[in-house]
Amino acid sequence: MVSTLFASLLAPLGPGGAGTVSDVAWWVHNLVVLTFMNLLPLSKHFHVVTSIPNVFFSKLEPAGALSKQDLESEDAIYGTSQMRHFNWKQVLDMYSCTECGRCASQCPATATGKPLAPRQLMLDLRDALYEHPEMVLDEANETKVVSENIISDEVLWSCTTCRACEEACPVMIEYVDKIVDMRRYLVQEEARFPTELTKAFQGMERQGNPWGIGADKRADWAQGLNVPLLAENPEAEYLLFVGCAGSFDDRAQKITQALAKILEAGGVSYAILGRDEPCNGDTARRLGNEYLYQTMAAMAVETFTGMNVKKVITNCPHCYNTIKNEFPQFGGDYEVVHAADLVADLIKRGKLKLSGDGGGGTVVFHDSCYLGRYNDVYESPREILAALAGVEVVEAERSRSTGMCCGAGGGRMWIEEDPSQRVNTLRVEQLLETKAGTIASACPYCMTMLDDGVKSKSLEDEVQTRDLMELVAGSLDT
Ligand code: SF4
Ligand code: SF4
Repeated sequence: MVSTLFASLLAPLGPGGAGTVSDVAWWVHNLVVLTFMNLLPLSKHFHVVTSIPNVFFSKLEPAGALSKQDLESEDAIYGTSQMRHFNWKQVLDMYSCTECGRCASQCPATATGKPLAPRQLMLDLRDALYEHPEMVLDEANETKVVSENIISDEVLWSCTTCRACEEACPVMIEYVDKIVDMRRYLVQEEARFPTELTKAFQGMERQGNPWGIGADKRADWAQGLNVPLLAENPEAEYLLFVGCAGSFDDRAQKITQALAKILEAGGVSYAILGRDEPCNGDTARRLGNEYLYQTMAAMAVETFTGMNVKKVITNCPHCYNTIKNEFPQFGGDYEVVHAADLVADLIKRGKLKLSGDGGGGTVVFHDSCYLGRYNDVYESPREILAALAGVEVVEAERSRSTGMCCGAGGGRMWIEEDPSQRVNTLRVEQLLETKAGTIASACPYCMTMLDDGVKSKSLEDEVQTRDLMELVAGSLDT
């Protein structure tokens, strides 16, 4: 119809005149396209060009595997402080942001009024690139992007590494890698970090765990229980990797005891390392202390190899993620299973006899970021809850891939939070909107944060916080 209209307008010009108009239109069209193409790289619309390659080149490795930093070669750098320290893909990310704001709308740091807003972080890096492109090209340029003017320390320490921003981003921009790379610079080159972290780092350096408790206390939780040691049961099929929280934290010890009870009831062949269990170093890595992490991970792999470990069960999503996705960087390849997957399977195969309701009622499940978003374990926790008699499962508005962090990830468990900006309080409010009587989780770190959140609202008499393992153990037909 449009062509017919133009044909009638051009008809009076005859074939020659119409041909001239066609030639002019062709040149104008191409000039406009070429001019726009030249201006694009200089404008904020460059993402039109870069976003498709950015998606194409997005990370193929597991989301939970941070890069293994080269700390030994002569030209090794100990973290990212300048623009030229970012790799080409990280720079492509900066040019690819469409400024849609989906990332910031999901970020727990932004939601609680902290100085971090992921979109702004990306735009600040991009704007710095536009203003000073020589920062990438000129080897002699020493301008720091980690500075009060561009990316401040407070912005970097606000991140819980929850990946909600990355999950939301339509062009698959990655944040956690850049934030941890810049934390590596702060910790390893400048020793600039929140003072509270000194204790956690010292605990890991001296006692091999962020709690700083002696290894002789690691298996105290197992006293009076029939828990086998791997040294005495080398034929055990699984190593139960308890983790530092499950070993040393009073509340988490109860969860470990519940898991041991379930494994015994389900006839699972397992054993623990006891006082020989090493910390896997996840906390050190997320906090930017890559040197410490690499030392701890290498030691853990050596211990596993010495004990001929092939299969690992753990109830801690942080241990699960680093043993499964990051230990292969140190030559440690294991079949790693989270307790939720294992127990859901035991229930399906009729290996556990469940009768009681475990004190359930209406239960809302809080997805741990390192179990869900990082490792796609969403179904088994819900299958476990569905198998418990008397439990009605309700979902929070933010759940599964859009679930909100409890606030403990990325080492923030060890950083003091302003009471008015607590992520755990906000998360508990979201979960309580469901009117559930029980908040369930599958992570000892989440449990600490949820417990504190419920207590901060003085609701501990009305709302229970339970790990899935406690609910199942409480339902076992003994
Ligand atoms: S990882 Fe989580 S806390 Fe960090 S910027 Fe992304 S959404 Fe915010
Ligand atoms: S979601 Fe992605 S594209 Fe949108 S503002 Fe955030 S980083 Fe940019």
